[in-house]
Amino acid sequence: MKIAARISLIKPSPTLTIQAKANALKAAGRDIIGFGAGEPDFDTPHNIKMAAVRAIEAGFTKYTPVGGIDELKDAVIAKLQRDNRLTYKRSEVVISCGAKHSLFNIGQVLFEEGDEVLIPSPYWVSYTDIVYLTGARPVIIKTNTADDFKLQPSQLEAAITPRTRAIIISYPSNPAGVSYSLKELEALAEVIVRKGIMVISDDIYEKIIYDGRPFYTLASLGDELKRLSIVVNGVSKTYSMTGWRIGYCAGAEEIIAAITKYQSQNTSNPTSIAQKAAVEALNGPQESVEMMRKEFQKRRDVITETLNAIPDVTCLKPQGAFYVFPNVAAYYGRSFGGKTITNSAEMANYLLDESNVALVPGADFGHDDHIRISYATSMEQIEKGLERIRAALLRLR
Ligand code: PMP
Ligand code: GLU
Repeated sequence: MKIAARISLIKPSPTLTIQAKANALKAAGRDIIGFGAGEPDFDTPHNIKMAAVRAIEAGFTKYTPVGGIDELKDAVIAKLQRDNRLTYKRSEVVISCGAKHSLFNIGQVLFEEGDEVLIPSPYWVSYTDIVYLTGARPVIIKTNTADDFKLQPSQLEAAITPRTRAIIISYPSNPAGVSYSLKELEALAEVIVRKGIMVISDDIYEKIIYDGRPFYTLASLGDELKRLSIVVNGVSKTYSMTGWRIGYCAGAEEIIAAITKYQSQNTSNPTSIAQKAAVEALNGPQESVEMMRKEFQKRRDVITETLNAIPDVTCLKPQGAFYVFPNVAAYYGRSFGGKTITNSAEMANYLLDESNVALVPGADFGHDDHIRISYATSMEQIEKGLERIRAALLRLR
């Protein structure tokens, strides 16, 4: 069977592939610790689930407007005003089937062959493939550990060419947990405005941020930046609603209209019931968000300290999200059972085969010296899994 050439440009999502592999091994009876996919381990809060139950019982189970119901658009508009001091109209917001879908739609309506899209690394695994599927070229800007994996204004400026359309930026970041101060963002904003490139700001980890650090989305840094920005967010991470598939974006009316037209020819509306649940998530009580954030912060403290206590492993302390991205390259070139480990994929395989720990190779995020551990799992699993990783690394000779 002939498959269209564009499909050979992309790979299956590495995070979802590892999650599926870990689940299959668990189902086969292996005692696997899942540090793979980034999915909060908490249940979706009860009030949100009940809103969905009410929607079903009320028969709210039919097509809705393609770009989402007004009630949800209004909840998103109120959220952006409340949290980000950004003012949008309904015609500047579109609801989609997850933030991944929002990002995919944005790529489809904005980019084409000949365009370049800047992506600071380490990056989330799907950004590059979302860009490849548009015919445009992702241009990776490799950030340095010495800069705490933060994009420097000089790096941004050096990467911009006449073909550059946009930058995709996300903080707190997946996989390194890096966030930016207002001053750091202002320095990046100066370059962005001067060069007039667009900003796709993936704010999905906005609420999972630690040590009292404030969050600013780039669009809130002035009218010019707002004009250049598309703000992307969703309910998956903040409200532990990964399976409900609701994300959204806000930006210029023209772009939102194009996305809505595009969506009308692929998914149609996001699920009606999930939209009602998302209204409750955004408008209802927010205590569960803080409860989850606090728990993630506790885990972050334990995991960073434990990893840094393993000989020759170094790990930045994340400022948000629920991942750590330790450097394990000191163990490359060492062997076990006649097999030498030379890269992050082999390290991830070794840790899965020898110690039943599932995690994602750093190469999938653009940094082969690292591995990504998702700590969206219980403290007990974290402690057990880290001990297994430590023992497995120390077995290498
Ligand atoms: N952006 C980032 C950085 C992510 O880690 C994820 C993970 N799911 C997403 C977007 C997509 O989230 P969703 O589609 O579940 O809203
Ligand atoms: N974003 C999460 C992760 O990076 C969930 C899986 C995915 O969509 O990539 O693990």
